[in-house]
This record gives sequence, structure tokens and C-alpha cells, in this order.
Amino acid sequence: MIDLHSHTDRSDGTFTPDELVAEAVRVGLKALAITDHDTFAGYDAAVGPAALAGLELICGIELSTRYQGGSVHLLGYFPVTPPSEELRAWLRFILEMRRDRNLRLISKLQSLGVDITLSEVETMGRTLTGRPHFARVLVDKGYAKDIQNAFDLYLDESAKGFVHRQEVPMEEALERILGSGGVPSLAHPVRVAKNNWEKLAGYVEDLAGLGMRAVEVYHSDHSPENVSYYASLAERFHLGATGGSDFHGANKPLISLGTGKRNNLHVPDALVDGLKELAARA
Ligand code: AMP
Ligand code: FE
Ligand code: FE
Ligand code: ZN
Repeated sequence: MIDLHSHTDRSDGTFTPDELVAEAVRVGLKALAITDHDTFAGYDAAVGPAALAGLELICGIELSTRYQGGSVHLLGYFPVTPPSEELRAWLRFILEMRRDRNLRLISKLQSLGVDITLSEVETMGRTLTGRPHFARVLVDKGYAKDIQNAFDLYLDESAKGFVHRQEVPMEEALERILGSGGVPSLAHPVRVAKNNWEKLAGYVEDLAGLGMRAVEVYHSDHSPENVSYYASLAERFHLGATGGSDFHGANKPLISLGTGKRNNLHVPDALVDGLKELAARA
């Protein structure tokens, strides 16, 4: 069993890098990719513990990009060579845009009568403060009954507190990942093109032309029908496949590392070698 999509508390998960490695060992993973949003801090901190535990650890990232007028998540994997200093510098710039969004989100929530400050929210996060940290504060202060409820009431794109975050263009994100020797993969396609299958096929064709190398075929939110369709799309456009649970610890309590939601996830072990081949592709 392997898992190529997971988050630590350095982005919006609740497990420390150490705890995530321990969990991977406990559930019997052969390989784990850490794909925190916008930062390698969780991966960096997990390298030592993973080596001690004999766990194969793969460096990854998840970016929110602008594509076709929407927000599309992009995974990047660095299974052979580590990401460049240039890529790391670019991520620091992305973190700055995040801080700007957080300031505006605080103002918006305050204008809605919510008693909340930036420092309260920032103490919830480590390297990065994201909406799940806002959600935690909203729950702790009684504005919502749980994390999901906080999103529904305040933080979701359709909710009253939502403010836009400046996102990087998909084209640039692809270039940056490829330029650093990485493998870009379209994250959880079930959330792309409102899951209109024809439209999605057009997007995947276009993205393949822009340098996308894989599709996240396996994911906790994918039905068996989704999985077969995304696998067929990957094959049709000569892309590889990736997959993982999208584990966030207590921030997404229904998702288990390696096995997804109620054992709905089965990521083939062979995808690890597949990733390495995709990285070597010229
Ligand atoms: P941010 O990158 O700070 O805008 O936060 C995005 C993260 O919030 C996502 O990666 C999810 O973990 C979480 N999230 C976004 N929308 C929702 C939602 N409607 N319900 C629950 N969690 C969400
Ligand atoms: Fe997340
Ligand atoms: Fe995502
Ligand atoms: Zn994710």
C-alpha cells in the first residue's frame, strides 16, 4: 500500500511530520508522499524520521492555480531530484499572497460581526495559515459547530465570508514544477469542471499540451466510476497516474491514510516507479 497525497500541520493537516511518518508505518505504507499546500516544510522535517523508520518518502507539493476562470489544484512530485532553491523562493512569494488574503479574510469576518484576530488564527498554523485554521477558531469560539459547518457558514467559496486569494496561473505553476525536475499531476479531477466529463476531457487534453504529466486517478473523493474514467483520460492523453488519500488528520476526520474513506482507496504500488519514470521523461 502507498499514499501519494497527504498533508502535515505545516500546511492544513493536524499531524506533525513525525506523527505522519509514524502513522504511515502503523498502517503499513511502503511509500508516502507529503504534498502540503505551498510549502516543503513538512517534507523537510519528515526526511529524518522516515529514513529512521525505513519508509520511502517522496517530496511533493500542492498548489492552487488559476485555470479556465476557476481554481484548480495541482500536485507536483520530486521523486528523483529535490526541488530547486528557485522553486522554494517562488513558494515564499506564494506564502506572501496567502498572508495578504488572510488579512482581508479577517477584515471580512470582523465586518460580519465575528470576534476574530489574525494572531488568534496564526497560532493555529505553523508555516502557513489557511482557511482550515480559520475554521478551527470559528468552532472554538462557538460560531460554528464543526469545521465543515464553519466552511458552509463562512469560508466556502459560496459562503458570506469568502474572499479571493490571488492564485498563480496554471501555466506558470506547470513551468515552475517542470523546470525544477518535478512531475505535475492534476489533483482530484472530480473537483474540476464541476465534474462535467466532456469538459474535463477537453481540459486534460489542453493541460497535457501545457506540460501536465499525470492525473490523480485515485483519491478519497473518487467513486469507482470516477477512477475508471480518469484512468481512461490519462491513457488517452498519454499521461501517468498518481493517487492518494488527501489525508489532513482531524481536519478531514473521515479520511484515513492509505485507505481513504471507508476503505474506498486502492493506490497501486507500481505508481511509485511510474513517478520516477515520469520525472526522467525529457
Ligand atoms: P486555503 O488554501 O487557505 O484557501 O484553504 C483551502 C483548504 O481548505 C483546502 O485545501 C481544504 O483543506 C479546505 N477546504 C476548502 N473548501 C472547503 C469546504 N467547502 N469544506 C471543507 N474544507 C474545505
Ligand atoms: Fe487542504
Ligand atoms: Fe486539493
Ligand atoms: Zn490535498
